[in-house]
Amino acid sequence: MIPVTKPFLPPVEEYEAFVKDIWTRHWLTNNGPLVNELEIRVKNYLQTPHFLFVNNGTIALQMAIRALRLEGEVITTPFSFIATTSSLMWERCTPVFVDIDPDTFNIDPEKIRAAITPKTTGILATHVFGNPCDIEAITEIAKEYNLKVIYDAAHSFGVKYKGQSLFNFGDISTTSFHATKLFHTIEGGGVFTVNAELLKEMAYVRNFGFDGPENFATVGINGKNSEFHAAMGLANLKYIEDILNRRKDTYEYYLEHLQDKNIKFQKIEKNTTYNYSYFPAIFESEEILKKVENYCMMNLIVPRRYFHPSLNTIRILSGNKCPISEDIASRVLCLPMYHVLSKEETNFILRIILRALNY
Ligand SMILES: *Cc1c(COP(=O)(O)O)cnc(C)c1O
Repeated sequence: MIPVTKPFLPPVEEYEAFVKDIWTRHWLTNNGPLVNELEIRVKNYLQTPHFLFVNNGTIALQMAIRALRLEGEVITTPFSFIATTSSLMWERCTPVFVDIDPDTFNIDPEKIRAAITPKTTGILATHVFGNPCDIEAITEIAKEYNLKVIYDAAHSFGVKYKGQSLFNFGDISTTSFHATKLFHTIEGGGVFTVNAELLKEMAYVRNFGFDGPENFATVGINGKNSEFHAAMGLANLKYIEDILNRRKDTYEYYLEHLQDKNIKFQKIEKNTTYNYSYFPAIFESEEILKKVENYCMMNLIVPRRYFHPSLNTIRILSGNKCPISEDIASRVLCLPMYHVLSKEETNFILRIILRALNY
């Protein structure tokens, strides 16, 4: 079977070496030495000032919403993973969906203004598939209306915008290091900010609000991650350049062979060094997508409909209409992309897709 993704795994001896050290120290969690080392190494690699390693990307979003005291209405995108919206609702905010740009698949800033009301406190936007949002336009609107900005940057590890890490933008950026993501720690996530005060607040929140053994600075949660997860991150980080390069090759190969076949591709923002985290293909109609999906399934290839359905159409999230997101969601298929996907497998996938399209 060819799945949509396969987690990268480092040589097992390299993970074991970290585990042996954990056995020696008997320190398993609670801000241990490997968690600290991972935080330092990630900050150095990405050239980003502040980063906290947390237990998943959903908690990262909730910590950011809390730290920025968002309440009332929060403007967000319908074209994302469900955690983007459900984390807002979990924090008792009302998501207000603003439709996306049909080419970049990111929230359309031109439509944000019309959705702002006196109850709006923030914008939570996703850099979809690692493609930077229109940061300048969003920043300007946020300034004008005094709104906080969170970027769900779950797909954005290694992406640079105007020469710096995409995590450096917005009041807070959050990410996920889940096993399905390009850089992973099995389960895990992160919060990034350039604001030292916000970092301090989130550091308290991550550890139950503790400020010393018997004092509490704020109401917190358990957002900590373990030494074993940090060990996986450290072992994987060594290979990140190789991971990024391999994906770039696969992405470009797909693109080259699917050109001029009535398939639409995501338009990547200019001034971006991209991470090639996903390969979304937009077919002409949902019917054609289903035919491609069926051909793939019959050949044990498992692409995924990221992101389908459009979040505003999910009953429990009950949102306003967003025709562009609904349209793209009905026609998008993410093709298999992972480190050990071979040329033969890529050719096989292409052959099956082109056959389904009658080429
Ligand atoms: C994966 C993902 C999340 C959630 O991250 P977890 O680590 O699985 O909790 C949130 N938002 C987006 C856009 C994601 O892709």
